[in-house]
Amino acid sequence: MTSDATLYDRDRKSVSALQKLRFFPLALRGGDGRYVIDDSDRRLLDLSGAWGAASLGYGHPAIRQSVDSALQSQAGASILSSTNAPAVMLAERLLQIVPGSGERRVWLGHSGSDANETVARAVVAATGRNRILAFTGAYHGGTQGSMAISGHSAQEGVAKSGGLTLVPYPNPYRPYEGDPNGNALLVHIETLLETSCPGEEVAAFFIEPIQADGGLIVPPAGFLRKLAKLCARYEILTVCDEVKVGLARPGKMNCFEWEDFTPDIVVLGKGLGGGLPISAVIGPAEIMNVTVSFSMQTLHGNPVCASAALAVLDTIQRENLITQAAETGDYLIKTFKSVQSGQPVIGDVRGRGLAIGIELVLNDAKTPATDLTRKVVYRAWELGAVFYYVGMQSNVLELTPPLTLTREEADKGTEIILRSIEDAIAGNVSDEAVAEFTGW
Ligand code: PMP
Repeated sequence: MTSDATLYDRDRKSVSALQKLRFFPLALRGGDGRYVIDDSDRRLLDLSGAWGAASLGYGHPAIRQSVDSALQSQAGASILSSTNAPAVMLAERLLQIVPGSGERRVWLGHSGSDANETVARAVVAATGRNRILAFTGAYHGGTQGSMAISGHSAQEGVAKSGGLTLVPYPNPYRPYEGDPNGNALLVHIETLLETSCPGEEVAAFFIEPIQADGGLIVPPAGFLRKLAKLCARYEILTVCDEVKVGLARPGKMNCFEWEDFTPDIVVLGKGLGGGLPISAVIGPAEIMNVTVSFSMQTLHGNPVCASAALAVLDTIQRENLITQAAETGDYLIKTFKSVQSGQPVIGDVRGRGLAIGIELVLNDAKTPATDLTRKVVYRAWELGAVFYYVGMQSNVLELTPPLTLTREEADKGTEIILRSIEDAIAGNVSDEAVAEFTGW
């Protein structure tokens, strides 16, 4: 490869497209706080936080120190046939942070995908029930097993688990049968459990407490609590996938706390490692210990990633990041709502804390502004901010910035987003410019 080819071009010629979502040509040489630095030394405000993974931003001293010291005294490489202090301390901490009752255990993995896949297998093995319930639009991962229990359009064509039943996600902006409170949907689910998807055959219901990749949709107040009650009647386990929206991001330690219910099983990932690959499942011992040698990978619970996760949890407490996420998030949501009347393409603004969705529509009939959304995201990159879009119609701007985002940075981000929307509407982003950036 010639040395004057850009990093982005070299990536295209050497790295597989299978692992890519392309929104604009972003090649990074560094990161600093809430900014990423591209290979021409441009600083871009990262309002995605690497899809929520960069929970503390980039180069946070707590993560650097914890990883450094774990490497210096590296206790083996995993917990597969041994154990190490960071992994055990992490498991102990997660049992404190995530509420639950009875004997529980923690499984450690690398990604949201492997964690959800493990849960899907373990609940079936432990209960002897073969069916799984999940929501249309749910994204639980990118591996065969996790996709098999998902309902996102990006996964069309993937063989679904034989026992998978999908039901609509409660979406107050586009309500099921016109009922924004979700009660009609609960009746629909109950009917399913009494007919084609018998409740006593269902092992678990996989729930995103905010549906993230499906469109950053916040369920109506009280819905998940009622759903959990319904599941309890049939002894269906509730699995809360907090991979993108958990751990302080929603202005509470766990997103399900908004709903005042305690799921049976909780899945964490992304922001847990602050940029390093680690995920966790917290659940009842009888499920997490259903057998041995059931879900093994060589590097599970490696001390370097576990130390990074401990540093993230410490920092959330020490820097008061739950409150900061709540306050900065409220501020952003209020700001976007306040400009909505002057910018009708902003159909809906929703979120909790620093998990925010801005849905773009073309008219009062709420026709998704898919093409425009693509251009807004591209234009924002040109103007110096990074964020992506989500949703089954690819028309929702998703903001999941580092929890450490400041008020000034929030203002700067808002300014870029609003200007990008104006520019895209004015036709300042050509079709050719975005042609190869098909996102998802
Ligand atoms: N669950 C949720 C809710 C997610 O948003 C994602 C990724 N977008 C995953 C699971 C999969 O996580 P990973 O990409 O780390 O495998």
